[in-house]
Amino acid sequence: MRYRRVLMKLSGGALAGDGGWGFDKQAVEHIADEVLDLHQIGVEVGVVIGGGNIFRGELGEQWGIERAEADNIGMLATVINGLMLRGALNARHESVDVRVMTAIPINAVAEPYIRLRAISHLEGGRIVLLVAGTGNPYVTTDYPAVQRALELRAEALLAAKNGVDGIYTADPRRDPSARRYRALAYDTAIRENLRALDQSAVLLARDHDLPVHVFDFDQRGAMRRICLGEDVGTLISKGADELA
Ligand code: UDP
Repeated sequence: MRYRRVLMKLSGGALAGDGGWGFDKQAVEHIADEVLDLHQIGVEVGVVIGGGNIFRGELGEQWGIERAEADNIGMLATVINGLMLRGALNARHESVDVRVMTAIPINAVAEPYIRLRAISHLEGGRIVLLVAGTGNPYVTTDYPAVQRALELRAEALLAAKNGVDGIYTADPRRDPSARRYRALAYDTAIRENLRALDQSAVLLARDHDLPVHVFDFDQRGAMRRICLGEDVGTLISKGADELA
């Protein structure tokens, strides 16, 4: 086994299916199945969930809503997604213990995020869903995904994408000559602004040497294969660039 503890970054869009907004039952069930699949082979798994299927802070400007307020709305959207995912995980597997930990205290529905408690949940075989990002505005959930991975001593961040199986030299939907990177150096991702994750998140990963796997979440078993050591998607690390 390559990894025994990972953190997954899941965008809100993954809960929405093709529609992009709200929830799609099949899409939510697919997420639950993939997370449970990883858990069943003994990988300790935490998930940082986005909120883009409900609201993103960057929309605030169009709506005339001040950014910090809009970001609070976005963070609360991630809480809804976390509760939805816990519900779906337990609907699939009643006995699996799933904890939703929030950076913004909402005591009636989720535990507060406390680093050592989160680690102890992972060690105890519980699935930990981390919501409300950092609890602070002006970032998306990419940054807290790297931050929590480091805090929780995860060996890697698995950055799930929908409909794209890694990072390409150019947009593969527009440029037929685009090639996928098998491996990508942090510095290339930053210099070329390759946008798999926010730049601030890649910088944090680079500074603390956290491997980041970017992969197509629509492919069943992709996370399991990554954790078992297979070459899937693009690995961002301090190694050299390599095309597939
Ligand atoms: N957000 C925030 N602080 C955080 C994490 C998230 O303010 O630490 C807000 C921000 O407005 C963001 C929204 O929550 O746009 C939803 O998260 P994100 O955009 O990352 O969702 P995704 O695109 O991954 O679905």
